[in-house]
Amino acid sequence: MRIDILTIFPEMFSSVLSTSICGKAIERGILNVYTHNIRDYAQSKHKNTDDYPFGGGAGMVMLAQPIFDCIEAVKQLESDKTPHIVFLTPRGKTLTQSKVQDLAKHEWLILLCGHYEGVDERVMSLVDEEISIGDYVLTGGEIPAMVVLDCVSRYVDGVLGSSESLGDESFTLFGGLLEYPQYTRPAEFRGMNVPDVLLSGNHAQINKWRRQQAIIKTAENRPDLLEKVQLSEEEKALIESILKK
Ligand code: SAM
Repeated sequence: MRIDILTIFPEMFSSVLSTSICGKAIERGILNVYTHNIRDYAQSKHKNTDDYPFGGGAGMVMLAQPIFDCIEAVKQLESDKTPHIVFLTPRGKTLTQSKVQDLAKHEWLILLCGHYEGVDERVMSLVDEEISIGDYVLTGGEIPAMVVLDCVSRYVDGVLGSSESLGDESFTLFGGLLEYPQYTRPAEFRGMNVPDVLLSGNHAQINKWRRQQAIIKTAENRPDLLEKVQLSEEEKALIESILKK
């Protein structure tokens, strides 16, 4: 998969692109990630990338020209392919695990990072999709782009090791539940014991316990997720009792 990141702060990406799972995938050539400095495409004498908003108001707006030129130059790098262009913005559709899976199906993503008050609306004529990483406002699109890069790359073949499974995690587990509690050695730590069932070796019982715990965690923290999960009558009663509390 190829991912190009368009930003006025490419230096922010250096540690993300050279560390941990993403770093290894890039080193092994499974993931090709490139950053491009939008400022390099600014035509003005002082290489400005922003100006005052028409109509007045606080802050600055990123200019259309450097972004248009940057996107057009990056598209030329693989002129036989069509990238899927994403603008990171709080007004976008919220990123979810299923959106991540959709994004991972594209062989080429361009991620555009905004700054200041945002970008000139005419840039949207080049954008396929506006995505928000959540209902809060950050200073720039760089951290959201890192979030997209990280979660999408997990779906690229070979990025995760064989010991890490995509199916057994929050949002995909048991049809969409949050993850159950996990423990590792020692079995007793500061007087706190690992639940006996996990030490029993009885996989059917372990699986039953994990599903029940996943339901409890989901009911407590994200009851909205339960709507899409198929539940037995017994499980529905368990949820009722948690929600009543
Ligand atoms: N004026 C914009 C608004 O009210 O929607 C907010 C601009 S924000 C200060 C600057 C940039 O940070 C945005 O253009 C966007 O690229 C990025 N950004 C901030 N919060 C974001 C979020 N929740 N998801 C994705 N991008 C975000």
